[in-house]
Amino acid sequence: MALTGRRAATESRASGRRNVQTESQFRKCGNAECGATLFVGDIERHHDCCKDCGYHFRVGSRRRAELTVDPGSWVELFDHLETIDPLQFSGRKSYLQSIEEGIAKSGEKEAVICGESTLEGRPLVFCAMDFQFIGASMGSVVGEKIARAIEHATERRWPVVISCCSGGARMQEGALSLMQMVKTSAALQRHNEAGLPYITILTDPTLAGVSASFAFLADVIIGEPGAMIGFTGARVIEQTIKVKLPEGFQTAEFLLKYGQIDMVVPRKDMKGTLARILGYAERTAGKSAPPPEREPAVAAVARKAPAAAPARSPKASAAKPKPARKKR
Ligand SMILES: [Zn+2]
Repeated sequence: MALTGRRAATESRASGRRNVQTESQFRKCGNAECGATLFVGDIERHHDCCKDCGYHFRVGSRRRAELTVDPGSWVELFDHLETIDPLQFSGRKSYLQSIEEGIAKSGEKEAVICGESTLEGRPLVFCAMDFQFIGASMGSVVGEKIARAIEHATERRWPVVISCCSGGARMQEGALSLMQMVKTSAALQRHNEAGLPYITILTDPTLAGVSASFAFLADVIIGEPGAMIGFTGARVIEQTIKVKLPEGFQTAEFLLKYGQIDMVVPRKDMKGTLARILGYAERTAGKSAPPPEREPAVAAVARKAPAAAPARSPKASAAKPKPARKKR
């Protein structure tokens, strides 16, 4: 987001000192229809949103964690994993150069941070992706950190929440980056089989290999207002199918309307919403999941009274275990 060219000067009467507020203290709202010039402190106070129109600025992974989990509860996981250049890739610039730029821009070693933490007192594993790091593309380290974070949660029987954003797989790692889709999905399958909740927050933008793997495998998929979410960009789709796409195509609101995501939640309400969902999951855990090593209810009824009990009696169907979660 470009900074405004505005330069403001104020004078402190009490101290007599002249305080110059430089342009870096202001940002322009990213919503062209609003266009407000906002004081950075005001943006931060409003969860990195425009106080006038609610436009959601993109936030880095560290800030995302700060906005989501309980203060002081963050314990970083797997931050020793660092990216190498397995294919010796070089395009307009070398891969190693891109990594260095990503580190400088984001202040992080990779495009995702993972940590164990609490959310309103409930333990969980939280991961947040950072678009400033090579467009939050998914290379081997991003995939490995996310897969390990999910396994860490499965071992402890904790939920996983991932704040997603990504341009997709990291082309500088070729097929290795595509394998991360399978690896993260397999880890999630085991987490799912353990009956543990998984929630994703899809932020602007969530695309390609990430949306085609862990972003859309959650039990509850939440979009941030106005976020671009999809697989391929709208322009490429239009050029391929030669059809004008509808207004708002690939926004969180559009996806909600067509049942692709479960809810759209403003950032200021995100923490409370996650806490409510996790609380609900905790209360219902074990109540509706099929108990292990037990004969199906229908068969048990039929054996006790073979002549009298119809195979699909109301009692039998009521006792039939219901799947607790969405299939994935
Ligand atoms: Zn605005």
